[in-house]
Amino acid sequence: MQRDKALVIFSGGQDSTTCLYWAKKYYKEVWALTFIYGQKHIVEVEHAQKIALSAGVHWDKMDVSFIGQLSSNALTDTSVVMDKDKPAEKLPNTFVPGRNMFFISIAAVYARERGIQNIVTGVSQTDFSGYPDCRDTFVKSLNVTLNMAMDEQFVLHTPLMWLDKCETWALADELGVMDIVRKDTVTCYNGVPGDGCGDCPACKLRRRGLEKYLGIRTIKQ
Ligand code: ZN
Repeated sequence: MQRDKALVIFSGGQDSTTCLYWAKKYYKEVWALTFIYGQKHIVEVEHAQKIALSAGVHWDKMDVSFIGQLSSNALTDTSVVMDKDKPAEKLPNTFVPGRNMFFISIAAVYARERGIQNIVTGVSQTDFSGYPDCRDTFVKSLNVTLNMAMDEQFVLHTPLMWLDKCETWALADELGVMDIVRKDTVTCYNGVPGDGCGDCPACKLRRRGLEKYLGIRTIKQ
């Protein structure tokens, strides 16, 4: 397995695009893998390909739409109306059960085939909407399990784990890709690129972080 190779789980959103450029900074050879899991907005996949190609990394996509079919949720089921805000004491219906477990596990098999040791995912428990599979303990636990499952030494990297959205913008800026992340990525649950629809939970979170960061940056200048 090669230590200088990394595979990024890449949706083409703000977080995974920041992770892609983070990986480019630290690893010689970078791969981006985009999962198609029955998202309502296939535009995300096209944007992911475009960003990866302009970043000069290997790009691949994989159809894992069985994940969306296993459960009813607002990201993959057109009959489910998305929760506008996080409901008290339960998971929002944008939660796709098992998604990160499947993504990371499949990515590990994919990486093993190509001799890639490092796997990068943009999950964060700071701003998470209560998703259990975005927590640090989950990722660490899966890392151990994957190594035992395949007798390998994978290293799962989560550069955004302890960053809030404002700090994630700061990281993109530090990596010199603030404009790319701002204009080319799709974070919006309604599939609108860049600043998005402005109304869904993902857009609200992204905008709050951006406004906070731009405020701090102006003060510093
Ligand atoms: Zn939106």
